[in-house]
Amino acid sequence: MNVMGHPNPDGYDPQSVERKWQRRWEERGTNHANLAGAARPFFNLMMFPYPSAEGLHVGNVFAFVGADIQGRYHRLRGHDVFEPLGFDAFGIHSENFALKVGTHPAELIPRNIARFRTQLQRIGLMADWRYEVQTTDPRYYKWTQWTFLQLFRAGLAVKRRAGVNWCPACKTVLANEQVIGGFCERHPDVKVEQRMLDQWFFTITRYAQRLLDHLETADWSHSTRTIQANWIGRSEGAELVFETPAGKPITVFTTRADTVFGATYLVLAPEHPLVSELTTAERRGEVAEYRRRVAAMDLVSRKVGDKTKTGVFTGSYARNPATGAAVPIWIADYVLMEYGTGAIMAVPGHDERDFEFARAMKLPIVRVVAGPGQDAATPLTAAEPDVPDGRLVNSPGYDGLPWEEAARRITDALAARGLGKAVVNYRLHDWCISRQRYWGPPIPIINCDDCGTVAVPEKDLPVVLPALEDFRPDDSGISPLARAEGWYRVACPSCGKM
Ligand SMILES: [Zn+2]
Ligand SMILES: [Zn+2]
Repeated sequence: MNVMGHPNPDGYDPQSVERKWQRRWEERGTNHANLAGAARPFFNLMMFPYPSAEGLHVGNVFAFVGADIQGRYHRLRGHDVFEPLGFDAFGIHSENFALKVGTHPAELIPRNIARFRTQLQRIGLMADWRYEVQTTDPRYYKWTQWTFLQLFRAGLAVKRRAGVNWCPACKTVLANEQVIGGFCERHPDVKVEQRMLDQWFFTITRYAQRLLDHLETADWSHSTRTIQANWIGRSEGAELVFETPAGKPITVFTTRADTVFGATYLVLAPEHPLVSELTTAERRGEVAEYRRRVAAMDLVSRKVGDKTKTGVFTGSYARNPATGAAVPIWIADYVLMEYGTGAIMAVPGHDERDFEFARAMKLPIVRVVAGPGQDAATPLTAAEPDVPDGRLVNSPGYDGLPWEEAARRITDALAARGLGKAVVNYRLHDWCISRQRYWGPPIPIINCDDCGTVAVPEKDLPVVLPALEDFRPDDSGISPLARAEGWYRVACPSCGKM
C-alpha cells in the first residue's frame, strides 16, 4: 500500500520488504562490528535519544539517518564500522514525562525504551544492538560516577554556594541558556527566581583559553566558531582598586582603564559581600529592601540592558585611584556577581548603561575621551562608548594620548602604586551540575561532619539510586534523596564515623 491507501503501482510493499531484509541482517550479523580484531575500525557514534515520550519524534529520525548514512558510506569504503546506540534515560526530561503521566520513572522508562528500540530497529539503522547502553543502568552510571571522582580528585569538581536560576514549577535549577526572557524554557508562563544553593560545579573556566585557542582548528563554519568564541567571551582589561575609608578596598574589572578619570561613582552587585559593611546606618533599611527585591529576580532578565535603571546609594564613598576624588558607592541590579568582580566603576560619559543610570540618579557625567572636532568641553547628550580616533581629555597627565595607549599607561601607573593590574576575563561560567531531582546518578560523595566532603572509594561504585516511592521534587531546593535516610546514612570512608 502507498501513502494514499492504494496498492503501490510498482508492487513495492515496504512493510514486507523492510522486514525481510532486516531479518536477514539480524541472522547474518551484518551490523556486528569486530571490536577486537578490526583491521580498519571506524567508530560511528551518534547522540543517544532521551526516552522521554511515548516514542521517537521525527527530529530524532532526522539526526540518526544522517549519521547512519555516514556509517554506511564508511562501510562501503571498507571500514569495519561500529555504530552503537543507547538511551540517555536519566534526567529531567524523563522525570518530567513520568510526573506528567503519573507513573514512577523506574517503571515508565524501561517501557519507553522498549518502544524506542522497536522503532529504531524498524528505521533500519546499522546499529550493533549487542552493545546497547542505558544510562540508567548501574553498570553504566558506575562510570559516570567514576568520571566524577577523577574530576573531584583533580580539583575540577567543586562544591560552592552560588546564586542560581530557580524554576518554581520545575522545582530545580536552570542554566542561563534555559531562561528565556525571564521565564522557564519548559514553563513559558513561570517567572524564574534567584536562589542561593550549595551546588556542584565543573570548573570549566580553567580551560577557557585552551577552548578558545583550539577553536581555530575546529572543523566548523566561521559563524559557529564566532558564536562559540563570544560565548567564552574573552576580554582583556584591568582590575583597579578603589580604597574606602571604612577599610576593605573595592576591586573592579574594566576593559577601559583609560576612562578611569571619568568614573564618577561605583556600582556593586546587590549580593556583593562588602555591601553590608559599606552601608551606613541611615541607608540600611532601603538597601535591605532593595536587596530583597533583587533576590527575587532571575539572573537573565537582570542582564537585559534596555530597562529602567534602579538602584540605591549605600551612604559610603570610595577613592577614585586616578583622580583621588571620593565617589559614591551604589548597588544596582544591572551589576552581577558572576561577571568580573561583582563591582564596576561607572563611567557614564562612555557607557550606555552607566549613562542612563547617572541620568536617573542625577550623578555627574564627565567626558574623558574626545574625537576629532571635539574637546574637553564638548557636551555629552548620550554615552559615547566608541569614539573614533578618540584621545583622552579631562585626564591630567594623559590628555591627548590615544585611548588604547592611555589604557596601558594608566594600568601600569596604577599597578606601580599597588592600585591595579592587567588581567584577562572570560564570560564563560563554571558548569553547575547539581539538580534537586531524583532521576539521575547520585553524586558519589559522602559528607562527614569531621572530614568534610569525602569521595566514595572506587571499589564501592556504583552508588545505586535507591527506589523511592515519592520521588517528586519539592520547593525546599533539597534533593528528594534527602528523604532516604536509610540510604544516605553510612560510615565515613575516611574516619569511620556514622
Ligand atoms: Zn520550569
Ligand atoms: Zn570522616
